[in-house]
Amino acid sequence: MKRIWIVALLAITLIAGCSRQDSLAGRDRAIAAVDAQQVHKVVVELASAPYSGRRTGTPGEAKAAAWIANAWKEAGLDTPEGVDDYLLQYEVPLYSITAFSGITARGFAGESFLGDRSMAMPYAGNGSVEAQAVLVGFGTTTAEHDEYAGVDVEGKVAVVFRYSPPSWSVPEEQIYLAAKIQRAAAHGAVGVVILDVPSSPNPFDMRGQTVSAIPDAPPSTLVSTEGARSLFWAAGMDFDVLAAEAWAGRGVSRVLKLTVRYAISADWNPAVPAYDVLGVVPGRDAERKILLCAHHDHLGTDRTGTIYPGADDDASGVAVLLEVARCLSRAGTPPVSVWLASFSGEEEGLLGSRALVTALPDLRETLIGVVDLDMMRRTSPGLGVSVAAGDTRMMAAVQMAIEDGAALSIIPWTLGSDHATFSALGVSSCMVSGHGREASWYHAASDIASDIPAADLESAARNVLYLLWRLMEST
Ligand SMILES: [Zn+2]
Repeated sequence: MKRIWIVALLAITLIAGCSRQDSLAGRDRAIAAVDAQQVHKVVVELASAPYSGRRTGTPGEAKAAAWIANAWKEAGLDTPEGVDDYLLQYEVPLYSITAFSGITARGFAGESFLGDRSMAMPYAGNGSVEAQAVLVGFGTTTAEHDEYAGVDVEGKVAVVFRYSPPSWSVPEEQIYLAAKIQRAAAHGAVGVVILDVPSSPNPFDMRGQTVSAIPDAPPSTLVSTEGARSLFWAAGMDFDVLAAEAWAGRGVSRVLKLTVRYAISADWNPAVPAYDVLGVVPGRDAERKILLCAHHDHLGTDRTGTIYPGADDDASGVAVLLEVARCLSRAGTPPVSVWLASFSGEEEGLLGSRALVTALPDLRETLIGVVDLDMMRRTSPGLGVSVAAGDTRMMAAVQMAIEDGAALSIIPWTLGSDHATFSALGVSSCMVSGHGREASWYHAASDIASDIPAADLESAARNVLYLLWRLMEST
């Protein structure tokens, strides 16, 4: 009896050892198959002019989704059950500006025309405005800094500074341009003029802002620092003095001796088609899945016709995703199934990942974990992995991948990409990224393919394979 048990145990150990070795051999074959040039070509393609910056709901985004679906087909990936030709279609609202008059400010000292020192916000409001201007500082409504207290913007144009003073603690969601517009609207403003601050990196830079269209927003504009000087000149005031006071954290809310006039024409379409691309590398255990995702949408083209190519954000993630899938399927059958998603709608507020969990509500039950790849260009030797502190499964997988040799490090938790959709559902999730929002090319027209070293993409694909393997083995 005893001997039988020992033999049985020995056999089990040998089998387990063998399969672990087989599994590692599969991982190493996949890692060895990574081809840097192949990954870089995908970034060059998706960041090229015909895709026009891939804004969700535009022909450029549809074209990108079709190209990715075809690339996945050529790589031999499966299409998930219930999904036709790799594409999941959903609907998004699309707001596009057709004309903007520029702002005219008439005040105590004279009249000035801001022209192209002002722009219509790319996602809010339609119609013409002529009303008195009221300065509401940074437009915050926190307990410490309620900038609407003591001023009345009902029927007026709210004039608001961007950001918040460095000495204030203001929740991130109060700083978003969209949130500033919504708060002005809630206080009855009929128009919103947001002023760039002198320390801003470049005028009209939309970095860090959600670009979701705001239904029923008052016509809203953004004014450069130069434009703001001209606007306050008309009111008989010195913008730089005022901005310095505001930046120092002193309340500056007041009624201005100024009437502001402008008109925005925009097309508002509440439902245009957008596309997620979905694929599968079937595993030995098809009932347990990992989702590897990235997003192919970006900011599109601005009012001057400048294309925002989004090579790093996030054509790079889509390219690495494809390479990982290609190498995985060539290296044999992985231990569990790997689902792949190239989302759209990320820049508009994670709409594509939300569309997936709505269309396939049962998916979350079988997900072991979600790995989101967003911006693979590196500013340091390794990649950062954003993991929630309480997510022990993901934390362990990342730590073991690091022990295996992956150049990864844990970075603070953020909700800034599609992994947040899944973590909100209780699924173990992380975001892998080469840098944060401080990179000079982030959401800028300078985010181009030729600036992304192929070595960054190659190393990202390898490091992601290390992480995926540990996650696939986790129970
Ligand atoms: Zn992104």
